Amino acid sequence: MRQIIRRKPSGQVLGVLLCLVGLGILLVVFWKAWPSVSASSNFLSALGSYILTEQISITSFATLKLTYLTIMATIFLVLGIVAIGFSRQIFYLSGESVSLQCPYCKNSWRARRAMAWAECPYCRKFIQPQATKKEI
Ligand SMILES: [Zn+2]
Repeated sequence: MRQIIRRKPSGQVLGVLLCLVGLGILLVVFWKAWPSVSASSNFLSALGSYILTEQISITSFATLKLTYLTIMATIFLVLGIVAIGFSRQIFYLSGESVSLQCPYCKNSWRARRAMAWAECPYCRKFIQPQATKKEI
């Protein structure tokens, strides 16, 4: 089976940007937590409790809990991965793929399966396409 992966560049750029923002926030959290938790014997639980209790000062009067930052980072990462995932359209060209022909304009196009009714992508008529040949 042949696979064609078509990528939407805009979606990928957005996804990568979201991932970078998420990773950047996580880095800030780790950077802040590192001096306090690096000496601990149980690094992960120390990091967890540090993130749950500590806060970071963004400006002189505003502080943000590290918990929120971590959640934000996770959301950015997940959104980024989802955006990258959706920007990849995978087409499977298998034996099911057929070539359909419009009875009016005689243009043909490829579809996943034969259809009783379809809109012709060329003349925009609602037609009964004729399956001309099976692609392998
Ligand atoms: Zn047509």
